[in-house]
Amino acid sequence: MLPYKTIQEASAVLVIPFPLIFIELARLAGFDRYKIQPKVRLSWPEMFRCYKDVMRIFLLVVGPLQLVSFPSIKMIGIRTGLPLPSGWEMFAQLLVYFLIEDYTNYWIHRFLHNKWGYEKIHRVHHEYTAPIGYAAPYAHWAEVLALGIPSFLGPAMVPGHMITFWLWICLRNIESIETHSGYDFPWNPTKYIPFYGGAEYHDYHHYVGGQSQSNFASVFTYCDYIYGTDKGYRYQKKIFQKLKGELKGNGEQNGVSYHFSTQDLKSD
Ligand SMILES: [Zn+2]
Ligand SMILES: [Zn+2]
Repeated sequence: MLPYKTIQEASAVLVIPFPLIFIELARLAGFDRYKIQPKVRLSWPEMFRCYKDVMRIFLLVVGPLQLVSFPSIKMIGIRTGLPLPSGWEMFAQLLVYFLIEDYTNYWIHRFLHNKWGYEKIHRVHHEYTAPIGYAAPYAHWAEVLALGIPSFLGPAMVPGHMITFWLWICLRNIESIETHSGYDFPWNPTKYIPFYGGAEYHDYHHYVGGQSQSNFASVFTYCDYIYGTDKGYRYQKKIFQKLKGELKGNGEQNGVSYHFSTQDLKSD
């Protein structure tokens, strides 16, 4: 799920996934080998339906929020004038925002996986068991609002400059689109970020679906590790590595990672 404070930030999310959609539709051989669930192919109408539903939520839920956006930013103490923030200030604040968001999002997301939360709200986001970029903000309106809170909490606790705030929202959106892209590119620079989850990590959460008790965190992997909610994923990964070794050389395609079992192992 994604946070938005202005319609411009939200509209960026409607444009950034375009290259991913092209890759998905064209199924170029060079990219296809990095598809996490290669057997799942969404048609153009299916993708357009996702886009349309996301647009509807933006207009009906995110749009009205614009009325309180600027006053609320001023109220929490975000400055808009000179001097501009230093690079170090921006880096430190962005790091804090990511950590606060990740931790809070983890618990809200985990709560949404109880019976009531899942049936009434979170089920919508899980309609895509093999997500695409546009599925990142595809969710029930209540989830759009609830998961906006973790993104606003960091800037409210450690207010900085408006530029830092914009950068934070942009990075968080791009990160969420990337983790829902359905592709795990080995050259992705995020591979060098310590404890970063990435596309494969969150894809597993969608693949398992409603029963999933694994991989709740939005950005990093440390919360799932500390609270023991990555055991199913790690077990699957271990088996996959073993299977991959066995299948190596007999012409099997990349992408069997989630197709040999539909059973998620409960963490507890
Ligand atoms: Zn979920
Ligand atoms: Zn998701």
